Amino acid sequence: MLELFLQKPYELQLREAGPAPSPTGDEVKIKVIYGGICGSDLGVFQGKLRHAIYPLRPGHELVGRVIKAGSAASIPVGTRVVVLPNTFCGKCSYCRRGKTNICENKQSLGVNADGGFAQEFLISSRYVLPIPDDLSDQKAVLIEPFAVVVHALQKVRLGKDCTVCVVGCGNEGMLAAALASHLGAKVTAIDINPRKLDLVSKLGEGIQAVLPQAVQQATFDVVIEAGGTKGAVEQGIQLVRPGGEMVVIGLAQEAILPVAHMVRNELTLFGTIIYNFPDDYLRAIDYLLDPSFRADAIISLTLPITAYRQAFESALTGDHGKIILDFKGV
Ligand SMILES: [Zn+2]
Ligand SMILES: [Zn+2]
Repeated sequence: MLELFLQKPYELQLREAGPAPSPTGDEVKIKVIYGGICGSDLGVFQGKLRHAIYPLRPGHELVGRVIKAGSAASIPVGTRVVVLPNTFCGKCSYCRRGKTNICENKQSLGVNADGGFAQEFLISSRYVLPIPDDLSDQKAVLIEPFAVVVHALQKVRLGKDCTVCVVGCGNEGMLAAALASHLGAKVTAIDINPRKLDLVSKLGEGIQAVLPQAVQQATFDVVIEAGGTKGAVEQGIQLVRPGGEMVVIGLAQEAILPVAHMVRNELTLFGTIIYNFPDDYLRAIDYLLDPSFRADAIISLTLPITAYRQAFESALTGDHGKIILDFKGV
Protein backbone atom coordinates (compact mmCIF):
# COMPACT_ATOMS: atom_id res chain seq x y z
CA MET A 1 0.00 0.00 0.00
CA LEU A 2 1.35 3.39 -0.99
CA GLU A 3 1.16 6.39 1.31
CA LEU A 4 2.39 9.95 1.31
CA PHE A 5 4.75 10.62 4.17
CA LEU A 6 6.07 13.90 5.49
CA GLN A 7 9.25 13.31 7.50
CA LYS A 8 9.48 17.02 8.29
CA PRO A 9 8.50 20.22 6.44
CA TYR A 10 9.27 20.01 2.70
CA GLU A 11 10.38 16.34 2.94
CA LEU A 12 7.42 14.67 1.30
CA GLN A 13 7.68 11.21 -0.26
CA LEU A 14 5.45 8.48 -1.61
CA ARG A 15 6.43 5.23 0.07
CA GLU A 16 5.42 1.60 0.29
CA ALA A 17 3.99 1.07 3.76
CA GLY A 18 2.66 -2.50 3.68
CA PRO A 19 -1.07 -3.24 4.01
CA ALA A 20 -3.11 -1.32 6.60
CA PRO A 21 -3.92 -3.60 9.58
CA SER A 22 -7.37 -5.18 9.98
CA PRO A 23 -9.97 -2.98 11.63
CA THR A 24 -11.02 -3.82 15.19
CA GLY A 25 -13.93 -2.62 17.35
CA ASP A 26 -15.78 0.23 15.64
CA GLU A 27 -13.05 0.82 13.05
CA VAL A 28 -13.41 0.55 9.30
CA LYS A 29 -10.75 0.16 6.65
CA ILE A 30 -11.16 2.72 3.87
CA LYS A 31 -9.91 2.25 0.33
CA VAL A 32 -9.30 5.83 -0.75
CA ILE A 33 -10.78 7.09 -4.02
CA TYR A 34 -9.93 10.80 -3.98
CA GLY A 35 -8.14 13.17 -1.64
CA GLY A 36 -8.37 16.94 -1.96
CA ILE A 37 -5.37 19.16 -1.26
CA CYS A 38 -6.23 21.98 1.11
CA GLY A 39 -4.50 25.14 2.27
CA SER A 40 -3.78 23.48 5.60
CA ASP A 41 -2.00 20.59 3.81
CA LEU A 42 0.25 23.22 2.25
CA GLY A 43 0.72 24.84 5.67
CA VAL A 44 1.76 21.48 7.14
CA PHE A 45 4.05 20.82 4.14
CA GLN A 46 5.75 24.18 4.64
CA GLY A 47 5.96 23.93 8.44
CA LYS A 48 3.65 26.90 8.89
CA LEU A 49 1.00 25.27 11.08
CA ARG A 50 1.98 25.63 14.73
CA HIS A 51 0.10 22.61 16.01
CA ALA A 52 1.31 20.21 13.29
CA ILE A 53 3.39 17.20 14.36
CA TYR A 54 6.04 15.37 12.34
CA PRO A 55 6.60 12.81 10.96
CA LEU A 56 3.08 12.77 9.57
CA ARG A 57 0.91 11.27 6.89
CA PRO A 58 -0.94 14.28 5.41
CA GLY A 59 -4.46 14.45 3.98
CA HIS A 60 -7.90 15.14 5.38
CA GLU A 61 -10.33 15.76 2.47
CA LEU A 62 -11.07 12.13 1.81
CA VAL A 63 -13.57 10.06 -0.11
CA GLY A 64 -13.33 6.28 -0.24
CA ARG A 65 -15.08 2.98 0.18
CA VAL A 66 -15.29 0.78 3.28
CA ILE A 67 -13.52 -2.49 2.42
CA LYS A 68 -13.40 -4.07 5.89
CA ALA A 69 -15.30 -3.36 9.09
CA GLY A 70 -14.61 -4.19 12.75
CA SER A 71 -17.26 -6.14 14.66
CA ALA A 72 -18.71 -2.97 16.26
CA ALA A 73 -18.50 -0.73 13.19
CA SER A 74 -21.66 1.20 12.29
CA ILE A 75 -20.96 1.33 8.54
CA PRO A 76 -21.11 -1.83 6.41
CA VAL A 77 -18.49 -3.01 3.91
CA GLY A 78 -19.05 -1.58 0.43
CA THR A 79 -20.36 1.82 1.58
CA ARG A 80 -18.93 4.86 -0.17
CA VAL A 81 -18.05 7.42 2.49
CA VAL A 82 -16.64 10.86 3.21
CA VAL A 83 -14.37 11.25 6.22
CA LEU A 84 -14.75 13.63 9.17
CA PRO A 85 -11.08 14.53 9.76
CA ASN A 86 -11.56 16.28 13.10
CA THR A 87 -12.17 14.05 16.08
CA PHE A 88 -14.37 15.00 19.03
CA CYS A 89 -14.58 13.44 22.49
CA GLY A 90 -18.36 13.72 22.96
CA LYS A 91 -17.76 14.36 26.68
CA CYS A 92 -16.36 17.86 27.16
CA SER A 93 -18.67 20.81 27.90
CA TYR A 94 -18.56 21.96 24.24
CA CYS A 95 -19.34 18.53 22.80
CA ARG A 96 -22.23 18.21 25.26
CA ARG A 97 -23.68 21.44 23.84
CA GLY A 98 -23.36 20.11 20.30
CA LYS A 99 -20.29 22.24 19.52
CA THR A 100 -18.06 19.37 18.49
CA ASN A 101 -16.10 21.77 16.28
CA ILE A 102 -14.49 23.36 19.34
CA CYS A 103 -14.04 20.13 21.32
CA GLU A 104 -11.26 20.50 23.90
CA ASN A 105 -9.79 17.18 22.83
CA LYS A 106 -10.05 17.64 19.07
CA GLN A 107 -7.40 16.08 16.85
CA SER A 108 -7.08 16.93 13.19
CA LEU A 109 -6.13 14.25 10.69
CA GLY A 110 -3.19 15.26 8.57
CA VAL A 111 -2.17 17.96 11.07
CA ASN A 112 -1.67 16.52 14.56
CA ALA A 113 -2.74 12.94 13.75
CA ASP A 114 -1.94 10.80 10.72
CA GLY A 115 -4.12 11.67 7.74
CA GLY A 116 -5.45 9.67 4.82
CA PHE A 117 -3.28 10.34 1.78
CA ALA A 118 -2.78 6.59 1.40
CA GLN A 119 -4.36 3.83 -0.63
CA GLU A 120 -5.92 2.49 2.59
CA PHE A 121 -6.29 3.62 6.18
CA LEU A 122 -8.21 2.82 9.34
CA ILE A 123 -10.63 5.12 11.09
CA SER A 124 -13.41 4.83 13.69
CA SER A 125 -16.74 4.45 11.90
CA ARG A 126 -18.11 7.39 13.94
CA TYR A 127 -15.97 9.63 11.73
CA VAL A 128 -17.34 8.56 8.35
CA LEU A 129 -20.59 9.44 6.63
CA PRO A 130 -22.19 7.51 3.75
CA ILE A 131 -22.43 9.42 0.46
CA PRO A 132 -25.67 9.28 -1.57
CA ASP A 133 -25.32 7.25 -4.79
CA ASP A 134 -26.20 10.19 -7.01
CA LEU A 135 -23.32 12.34 -5.75
CA SER A 136 -20.18 11.81 -7.85
CA ASP A 137 -16.81 10.99 -6.27
CA GLN A 138 -15.48 14.33 -7.51
CA LYS A 139 -18.26 16.36 -5.92
CA ALA A 140 -18.04 14.26 -2.75
CA VAL A 141 -14.45 15.34 -2.19
CA LEU A 142 -15.81 18.88 -1.77
CA ILE A 143 -18.09 17.92 1.13
CA GLU A 144 -15.48 18.53 3.85
CA PRO A 145 -14.09 21.89 2.66
CA PHE A 146 -17.59 23.03 1.68
CA ALA A 147 -19.02 22.13 5.11
CA VAL A 148 -16.66 24.78 6.52
CA VAL A 149 -18.40 27.38 4.36
CA VAL A 150 -21.88 26.04 5.03
CA HIS A 151 -21.16 26.39 8.77
CA ALA A 152 -19.68 29.88 8.41
CA LEU A 153 -22.50 31.28 6.31
CA GLN A 154 -25.12 30.25 8.84
CA LYS A 155 -23.65 32.89 11.17
CA VAL A 156 -24.65 35.82 8.95
CA ARG A 157 -27.95 37.06 7.51
CA LEU A 158 -27.77 36.08 3.87
CA GLY A 159 -30.87 36.72 1.90
CA LYS A 160 -32.02 37.46 -1.59
CA ASP A 161 -30.47 40.65 -2.91
CA CYS A 162 -28.24 41.28 0.08
CA THR A 163 -24.76 42.37 -0.94
CA VAL A 164 -21.81 40.17 -0.06
CA CYS A 165 -18.09 40.66 -0.46
CA VAL A 166 -15.81 37.63 -0.30
CA VAL A 167 -12.26 38.65 0.55
CA GLY A 168 -9.73 36.10 -0.72
CA CYS A 169 -10.47 33.45 -3.33
CA GLY A 170 -8.71 30.36 -2.11
CA ASN A 171 -10.81 27.21 -2.04
CA GLU A 172 -12.92 28.33 0.91
CA GLY A 173 -13.43 31.81 -0.53
CA MET A 174 -14.51 30.39 -3.87
CA LEU A 175 -16.94 27.99 -2.24
CA ALA A 176 -18.30 30.86 -0.12
CA ALA A 177 -18.86 32.99 -3.23
CA ALA A 178 -20.61 30.06 -4.91
CA LEU A 179 -22.92 29.43 -1.95
CA ALA A 180 -23.75 33.10 -1.28
CA SER A 181 -24.60 33.50 -4.97
CA HIS A 182 -26.67 30.31 -4.94
CA LEU A 183 -28.61 31.74 -1.97
CA GLY A 184 -29.52 34.82 -3.99
CA ALA A 185 -26.97 37.35 -2.72
CA LYS A 186 -25.25 39.84 -4.99
CA VAL A 187 -21.67 38.67 -4.67
CA THR A 188 -18.44 40.54 -5.21
CA ALA A 189 -15.28 38.47 -4.77
CA ILE A 190 -11.85 40.04 -4.45
CA ASP A 191 -8.38 38.57 -4.76
CA ILE A 192 -4.97 39.84 -5.81
CA ASN A 193 -4.55 36.96 -8.31
CA PRO A 194 -6.34 37.50 -11.67
CA ARG A 195 -6.38 33.71 -12.31
CA LYS A 196 -8.43 33.22 -9.15
CA LEU A 197 -10.81 35.97 -10.26
CA ASP A 198 -11.30 34.11 -13.51
CA LEU A 199 -12.15 30.90 -11.67
CA VAL A 200 -14.48 32.41 -9.10
CA SER A 201 -16.50 34.30 -11.70
CA LYS A 202 -17.51 30.91 -13.17
CA LEU A 203 -19.01 29.66 -9.90
CA GLY A 204 -22.28 31.53 -9.99
CA GLU A 205 -24.50 33.75 -12.05
CA GLY A 206 -23.49 37.39 -11.66
CA ILE A 207 -20.48 36.96 -9.36
CA GLN A 208 -18.35 40.09 -9.78
CA ALA A 209 -14.69 39.18 -9.44
CA VAL A 210 -12.37 42.14 -9.07
CA LEU A 211 -9.00 43.21 -7.68
CA PRO A 212 -9.10 44.54 -4.08
CA GLN A 213 -8.51 48.16 -5.14
CA ALA A 214 -11.76 48.09 -7.15
CA VAL A 215 -13.90 48.01 -3.99
CA GLN A 216 -12.08 50.77 -2.08
CA GLN A 217 -15.24 52.91 -1.80
CA ALA A 218 -17.87 50.16 -1.58
CA THR A 219 -19.63 48.67 1.46
CA PHE A 220 -21.58 45.43 1.80
CA ASP A 221 -24.23 43.90 4.06
CA VAL A 222 -21.99 40.89 4.68
CA VAL A 223 -18.25 40.39 4.31
CA ILE A 224 -16.80 36.89 4.26
CA GLU A 225 -13.09 36.92 5.05
CA ALA A 226 -11.31 33.92 3.57
CA GLY A 227 -7.90 35.38 2.79
CA GLY A 228 -6.31 34.40 6.08
CA THR A 229 -4.02 37.42 6.14
CA LYS A 230 -3.82 40.54 8.30
CA GLY A 231 -4.49 42.69 5.24
CA ALA A 232 -7.59 40.71 4.27
CA VAL A 233 -9.11 41.08 7.75
CA GLU A 234 -8.29 44.79 7.87
CA GLN A 235 -9.69 45.50 4.42
CA GLY A 236 -12.67 43.25 5.14
CA ILE A 237 -13.86 45.20 8.18
CA GLN A 238 -13.70 48.47 6.21
CA LEU A 239 -16.02 46.92 3.64
CA VAL A 240 -18.87 46.22 6.09
CA ARG A 241 -21.69 48.72 5.85
CA PRO A 242 -23.16 50.21 9.05
CA GLY A 243 -25.19 47.52 10.82
CA GLY A 244 -23.53 44.83 8.72
CA GLU A 245 -21.60 41.69 9.56
CA MET A 246 -18.30 40.04 8.85
CA VAL A 247 -17.49 36.36 9.31
CA VAL A 248 -13.82 35.39 9.45
CA ILE A 249 -12.93 31.97 8.05
CA GLY A 250 -9.23 32.63 7.42
CA LEU A 251 -6.61 32.10 10.10
CA ALA A 252 -4.59 35.31 10.16
CA GLN A 253 -2.50 35.31 13.34
CA GLU A 254 -3.57 38.87 14.17
CA ALA A 255 -4.90 42.08 12.67
CA ILE A 256 -5.64 45.63 13.76
CA LEU A 257 -9.34 46.35 14.14
CA PRO A 258 -10.84 49.88 14.06
CA VAL A 259 -12.79 49.49 17.28
CA ALA A 260 -14.42 52.94 17.42
CA HIS A 261 -15.55 52.55 13.80
CA MET A 262 -16.99 49.10 14.57
CA VAL A 263 -18.76 50.33 17.71
CA ARG A 264 -20.20 53.48 16.13
CA ASN A 265 -21.47 51.55 13.14
CA GLU A 266 -22.72 48.52 15.08
CA LEU A 267 -20.66 46.08 13.06
CA THR A 268 -20.79 42.42 14.06
CA LEU A 269 -17.76 40.18 13.73
CA PHE A 270 -17.99 36.37 13.83
CA GLY A 271 -15.28 33.77 14.10
CA THR A 272 -16.07 30.33 12.69
CA ILE A 273 -14.18 27.06 12.75
CA ILE A 274 -14.80 23.93 10.71
CA TYR A 275 -18.33 22.49 11.12
CA ASN A 276 -20.66 20.47 13.28
CA PHE A 277 -20.87 16.85 12.29
CA PRO A 278 -22.98 15.45 10.75
CA ASP A 279 -25.35 18.45 10.37
CA ASP A 280 -23.11 20.69 8.27
CA TYR A 281 -21.94 17.70 6.20
CA LEU A 282 -25.56 16.79 5.44
CA ARG A 283 -26.35 20.38 4.44
CA ALA A 284 -23.25 20.46 2.24
CA ILE A 285 -24.36 17.23 0.54
CA ASP A 286 -27.83 18.68 -0.13
CA TYR A 287 -26.34 21.71 -1.86
CA LEU A 288 -23.89 19.60 -3.86
CA LEU A 289 -26.75 17.37 -5.05
CA ASP A 290 -28.58 20.40 -6.44
CA PRO A 291 -27.77 20.46 -10.18
CA SER A 292 -28.11 24.25 -10.26
CA PHE A 293 -25.23 24.56 -7.77
CA ARG A 294 -22.07 24.35 -9.85
CA ALA A 295 -19.41 24.44 -7.14
CA ASP A 296 -17.53 21.54 -8.73
CA ALA A 297 -16.21 24.02 -11.31
CA ILE A 298 -13.75 24.85 -8.53
CA ILE A 299 -11.90 21.56 -9.24
CA SER A 300 -9.11 22.58 -11.56
CA LEU A 301 -6.77 19.59 -11.58
CA THR A 302 -6.98 15.86 -10.80
CA LEU A 303 -3.70 13.95 -10.69
CA PRO A 304 -2.76 10.37 -9.80
CA ILE A 305 -1.13 9.99 -6.39
CA THR A 306 2.15 9.14 -8.14
CA ALA A 307 2.18 12.75 -9.42
CA TYR A 308 1.97 14.11 -5.85
CA ARG A 309 4.97 16.40 -6.37
CA GLN A 310 3.32 18.11 -9.31
CA ALA A 311 0.08 18.32 -7.32
CA PHE A 312 1.70 20.02 -4.31
CA GLU A 313 3.83 22.30 -6.51
CA SER A 314 0.77 23.33 -8.52
CA ALA A 315 -1.19 24.01 -5.33
CA LEU A 316 1.66 26.15 -4.00
CA THR A 317 1.57 28.44 -7.05
CA GLY A 318 -1.78 29.75 -5.78
CA ASP A 319 -3.11 29.81 -9.35
CA HIS A 320 -5.47 26.84 -9.05
CA GLY A 321 -8.83 25.96 -7.61
CA LYS A 322 -9.15 22.62 -5.83
CA ILE A 323 -6.50 20.03 -6.73
CA ILE A 324 -7.44 16.40 -6.23
CA LEU A 325 -5.24 13.35 -5.82
CA ASP A 326 -6.57 10.17 -7.42
CA PHE A 327 -5.79 7.00 -5.43
CA LYS A 328 -7.61 4.54 -7.72
CA GLY A 329 -5.76 2.58 -10.38
CA VAL A 330 -2.21 2.92 -8.98
ZN1 LIG B 1 -9.17 21.23 4.28
ZN1 LIG C 1 -15.21 17.26 23.29
